[in-house]
This record gives sequence, C-alpha cells and structure tokens, in this order.
Amino acid sequence: MDKIKMTTPIVEMDGDEMTRILWQMIKDHLLLPYIDLKTEYYDLGLEYRDQTNDQVTIDSANATKKYKVAVKCATITPNADRVKEYSLKEMWKSPNGTIRAILDGTVFRAPIVVRGIDPCVMNWKKPITIARHAYGDVYKGSEMKVPGAGKVELVYTAEDGSEARELVHSFNGPGIVQGMHNLNGSIESFARSCFNYALDTHQDLWFATKDTISKKYDHTFKDIFQEIFETDYEDKFKEAGITYFYTLIDDAVARVMKSEGGYIWACKNYDGDVMSDMISSAFGSLAMMTSVLVSPDGDFEYEAAHGTVQRHYYKHLKGEETSTNSVATIFAWTGALRKRGELDGNRELAAFADKLEQATIDTIEAGEMTKDLALITTIPNPTALSSEEFIKAIAKRL
Ligand code: NAP
Ligand code: MG
Repeated sequence: MDKIKMTTPIVEMDGDEMTRILWQMIKDHLLLPYIDLKTEYYDLGLEYRDQTNDQVTIDSANATKKYKVAVKCATITPNADRVKEYSLKEMWKSPNGTIRAILDGTVFRAPIVVRGIDPCVMNWKKPITIARHAYGDVYKGSEMKVPGAGKVELVYTAEDGSEARELVHSFNGPGIVQGMHNLNGSIESFARSCFNYALDTHQDLWFATKDTISKKYDHTFKDIFQEIFETDYEDKFKEAGITYFYTLIDDAVARVMKSEGGYIWACKNYDGDVMSDMISSAFGSLAMMTSVLVSPDGDFEYEAAHGTVQRHYYKHLKGEETSTNSVATIFAWTGALRKRGELDGNRELAAFADKLEQATIDTIEAGEMTKDLALITTIPNPTALSSEEFIKAIAKRL
C-alpha cells in the first residue's frame, strides 16, 4: 500500500511521562505505517524545556502560527516537587498557558462519545463542547479584606488625570471586596474563536452571562458577541444552517440538563471552569475528552484534556504493565490530521483521520478497552487491555 502523502507539516509538540510513551506507540502503530508523516518536531518534554530556558515552547507556538495546525502531548507544569525531581533551573510556566498567550486562543473541550460509556445525564446523546474564555474576571482580580467601617470605591484615572468614581459599598463593619476586569479586545477574540469554531464543526453556539444583574460588566460580553455576530457571522451561520443563541446563565444551565447535546456552550472564565468539570465527569472520563485551542486567526492546536498520568509512568519505569487510556491522545492526532487535510485539500488524509477514529470507537464498542473504561462500561464482560495491547487492537481494526 502507498502511504498517504502530506504537503504541509503539522507542528508536533512532544511531552512528558506516560503520555510521551503513548505518543511514540501511537506514531509507531497507528500513523507511520499509513502516512508519510510530515511534522515539525518540538520537544516540550520538561528536560528540554529546561535546557532551552523554555524557548522551545515559545518556538512551538510561533510555528503553530506559521503552519496553522499543531498536536500537543500532555506536559508537566512544574511545581516545587518537579523542580527537585528534574533539577530545574527555574519553575517554568505552564506550557499551555504560554502557548495560549501567544495564540490568544480559546480552548474547546468535547467528550468522545462511545456506546457503552454512557453519560450520567440520560438524555445527553451528543457531545456538549465547552468553550471557556481564558482571560480575566476573578482569575485576575484584586481583593481586600475590609477591616471595619468605611467607604470602598472604584476609581478610574484616565491618562489625562481626570477621574471617574463608583461607590462599591459604605461599610458599617468588617467585610470583603473584590475588583476584577476584562478587556474588550480579549472578549472580541473569544467571540470570534467561538463563531469560527461553530462554523468549523457545524454546531449551534450558545452563550450565556448574568447581564440582567451585571448591567455593565456582563452586558458588555453580551453586546460584543451580538455585534460581532451581526457584522461578520450572521449570514455565514444562516448558510451553514446553524444558530447563535444567547440566554441567561441560569436558563442555560437548566436547558443544558434537558437537552440532547450537540452544541458548543461558550462560557465566561469562571462559568467555564466550573461547567467543564461538570460536563467531563458527567460524560464519564477525562481520558475520553479532547481539547483544542483555536486562535481568532484560525490556528488550531489539538491535545488531550488529561495530564501526563504520572502514577502510571512510575509503574512503567518499574517495568510493570500499565493500562493507560490513549483515546484522547489518538483523537488529538486525528483532529490535527483532519484539519491539515481540510486546509490542504488533502482528502485522503482527512479520510484517514475519520477511519482511525472509527477504528478506535469500534474497538471499545467491541469490548476491548483500557482498565479505566472497563470499570465503568455497560458492555458485558469487557476485556481490559494494557496500554500497548489496546493500541495494537485498534491497529488491527484499522
Ligand atoms: P493526570 O495525568 O490527568 O492523571 C490523574 C489521574 O487520572 C491518573 O492518576 C489516573 O487515575 C487518571 N487518568 C488520567 N488520564 C488517564 C488516562 N489517559 N488513562 C487512564 N487514567 C487516566 O493528572 P496528574 O497525575 O495530577 O498530573 C500529572 C501531570 O500532568 C502534572 O505534572 C500536571 O502538571 C500535568 N498536567 C498536564 C496537562 C496538560 O498538559 N494539558 C493537564 C493536566 C495536568 P489512576 O491513577 O487512578 O489510574
Ligand atoms: Mg476547574
């Protein structure tokens, strides 16, 4: 069989621990036998990030701007323990944070739906994709404990020195206060990423805030979305047969529970933090969740939503067998390959991505899966496979 040819490379961001082991197995068994794989390789493993003073992370993000498509393996975000373990020069920042800051992107997380791994919410038939705004609000807030009676105000000082003030509260006794902000530019990027992703995946877009209570702050989010929608996207949405739907956040939550899924739910930063954990746990498992960073310019970086699965890696290092779920990492690759295929008009490559996803789903639905799924599946008598056996079982179907 002739291997599938590629014209433009994908940016390949290698990572750490157990997911780095899976990464190589996926390439060896599921990709390289079928594709003349063209990637520009960046080693985001912690050792090389340390060697390059994290320059490799920055380079990989800039390469993503150039080639438009990247696939990323899970990486360690160092903490004090990791600094010791790897004798790091510094406690390097989260690679995902660095990449997101350079691409100015929004992260979309979607569950991989498989028969036999059923969501807790029985009426959810299709995936619900969460888009979380990744800038500002309470995550960049400043706070104070108010020690006793007194007045708290918001003060804006313009560059010409003029001032505007708004009373927060006249305190009679001790209390607490918080100031937070967002930027119109960031909200605009968020909105564009969401509208583009909805068109790209042919799904309706929902957005919700608390604009009835927060008449300036949240209302600005609503207004910016509406304005960008009307100016740049309304016609495209009509043509694609999809809708943009705005409602109040509490109404959205109620509707989500009663829906059958199959749409993108855009959330403000805090709502997205909370709701993505609810959606992912209700759909079954972090190991069955994909994640893609989409920039407002239309750059795509695909990855798994879980971490490097450290506990399994230490078992692997001791020579023990592991049963680590590679589905989300496989789907990161297929997402990137399909997008590459679409952008390059390479139909064979996009079709291969579909087939690999189908082979993965078929393998699980036939009762062959890793231990984490075997524990929760409704399929009778599942076979729990090791990390490598599972990938080989997919290869056999493929
Ligand atoms: P984790 O890698 O997500 O794993 C936590 C636990 O969840 C595992 O011990 C395992 O449970 C289960 N699990 C997660 N993924 C699995 C999979 N594919 N197959 C089977 N089980 C899976 O989180 P962590 O161990 O807390 O973090 C490890 C490292 O990952 C940290 O250094 C963190 O910085 C990094 N991290 C990276 C990213 C990213 O790059 N996107 C995201 C999150 C965390 P059992 O042990 O019970 O089997
Ligand atoms: Mg959270």
